Amino acid sequence: MKLLSPVRIGQMELKNRVVMPAMHLGYCKDGFVTNKLVEFYRARARGGVGLIIVGGCAIDDQGYGNMIKIDDDKYMPGLSDLVNAVHEEGGKIAAQLFQPGRYSYSFLMGIQPVAPSPIPSKLTRQMPRELTTDEIKDIVNSFGQAAVRAKKAGFDAVEVIGSAGYLVSQFLSPVTNQRQDEYGGDFENRMRFGLEVAQNIREAVGLDYPVMFRVGGNDFMPGGNTNREIAVFCKRLEEAGVDAFNVTGGWHETAVPQITMAAPRGAFAYLARGIKEAVNVPVVACNRINDPILAEEILADDMADLVGMARAMIADPDLVNKASEGRFGQIRKCIGCNQGCLDAVFTMKPVGCLVNARAGREEEGDFRPAGRVKKVLVVGGGPGGMEAARVAAERGHRVTLWEKGNRLGGQLNIAAVPPGRSEFATFVEYLSSELYRLGVTVELDKEANEENIRSFDPDAVVMATGATPVTPPIDGVDSPNVAQAWDVLAGKSATGRRVVIIGGGAVGCETALMLAGKGVINAETLHFLALNNAENWETLKVLATRGIKDITVIEMQKAVGADIGISSRWVILQEIQRFGVKTITGATAKKIIDKGVIIDVAGKEELIEADTILLAVGSQSVSELSERIKESFPEVYMVGDAVAPRKALDAVHQGCLAGEVL
Ligand code: SF4
Repeated sequence: MKLLSPVRIGQMELKNRVVMPAMHLGYCKDGFVTNKLVEFYRARARGGVGLIIVGGCAIDDQGYGNMIKIDDDKYMPGLSDLVNAVHEEGGKIAAQLFQPGRYSYSFLMGIQPVAPSPIPSKLTRQMPRELTTDEIKDIVNSFGQAAVRAKKAGFDAVEVIGSAGYLVSQFLSPVTNQRQDEYGGDFENRMRFGLEVAQNIREAVGLDYPVMFRVGGNDFMPGGNTNREIAVFCKRLEEAGVDAFNVTGGWHETAVPQITMAAPRGAFAYLARGIKEAVNVPVVACNRINDPILAEEILADDMADLVGMARAMIADPDLVNKASEGRFGQIRKCIGCNQGCLDAVFTMKPVGCLVNARAGREEEGDFRPAGRVKKVLVVGGGPGGMEAARVAAERGHRVTLWEKGNRLGGQLNIAAVPPGRSEFATFVEYLSSELYRLGVTVELDKEANEENIRSFDPDAVVMATGATPVTPPIDGVDSPNVAQAWDVLAGKSATGRRVVIIGGGAVGCETALMLAGKGVINAETLHFLALNNAENWETLKVLATRGIKDITVIEMQKAVGADIGISSRWVILQEIQRFGVKTITGATAKKIIDKGVIIDVAGKEELIEADTILLAVGSQSVSELSERIKESFPEVYMVGDAVAPRKALDAVHQGCLAGEVL
């Protein structure tokens, strides 16, 4: 595979073309490298990745507390430990140099953020202060000094973050740079800050040391820079001594989803191609590349020279080794859910992963082999039960899994139904094939009871019996025009043209989107009609977003989607609006009648007419059997929704823990 062939960035030789781009992990303490961080990256280096870029590493006092800092020599011992760990495993490591500008937070840093111009950020809701010319020069120098520290600590390269709306891109964009001096105005002046940063670093580290630049291939901001301007900037950076470009998507403030499951895999590789056509140094393509086969296609098509896989490496640290050994089916793919990673980043928590419950726990070492091999029975084939079975079998136990339905996956199968959510199914595929590989006996259509568990005679039982949807006590809820949203997602119930969904949480919103998509043209038709100019763009947009159903979501709280993770919520709410789904908040369903639902909004009753009323008001644990057998068997573990309804991430992590302690 070209992906596994060596490549050079400046004087740095990489053993393959897989890059793990920098990601805030939240593992540092007061800016110091921790053992948790060291072992996290050691595992990825051991897993074969060609280049690890860590960071952002704050070059001055504008870094967040739980990120890496590189603005003082006191951080050097920890930085060297990190470098040494990666080198010991045969990897290469670069430090990403970070200055957030107006993306900093005054309530965290205790000082007002700075920026080219005093223009508030929609992301942080902060009003920055305009930098003076002297302060700009100081920041340029801080980049150079940080690069020198990185070099002294043993990093193989540095990378400047010039993407995502951070300080370099703020200078480059007319949206955020309205200065009248030599750093503002025309494009030449707006490039000046980034170019001075590159020149300063080059002078500070010498000619031979590799310097990379992370750029957004398109700001995706109204009035911002496009791929064309960024390509010109990169050409100038190359002349200033930059050795490679790492190309990502748009700003954090953009309305274009970058990293959610809704963004097609590899969708932004075209941005890397635009840069590659303008420069003569290696270019890295990034975003939603979770699979070595897709990565290989990007390289084979000459869209880029290397491929960036950040979340893919969180999900499976051994991805590269597995690919090089032809074990593609054993790769645990990132599903783009953001539940464990980006949602944690945006709420200042340490990063984890839905599909890899051991991410962030590498310092605990590998799974401990089973001391005594036990006969383990797992009841329930949802994500928690499957993960418990997988881990227990990996450790050497003899494992049997009973699932009362006719397929594995539980609620992940339902979660995968709404448009843009299909990747949940890939995790079910991974777990299913791992259970097969590890020799777990899976019995479908097998309902557990006290008697058959007793006659199975297990040493340990994991109860992962899941949850069932709640039926609220609403007058008329037993009428034939009422169904559970779960049943509609599972394809067990049909709906009429006008649908009211009671409950605007994740299930209600995703059911609404699934139904709103009925009758819209698919991507292939859209492509065909657009290329043949069969319809104008306005008509195509209508055809792609207006289906045959009339959907209304009723929610008691002030907003819908309150239980959806922060990094996916805005995308789903944007889609709800785009697809014409009506939402009524602060509303209570009072009565269901033939014609629809009578709701109460601020003390006023009104009828929402509907052919079908769907219930999406939450779920309750199925735990009766667990409670009964708890006392009769020596080892009983309850995991997932059987304990209390929870997110898939929590169910998987609990399943993993149960598998570890057996
Ligand atoms: Fe990927 Fe989800 Fe894991 Fe994040 S939490 S790395 S998006 S699978």
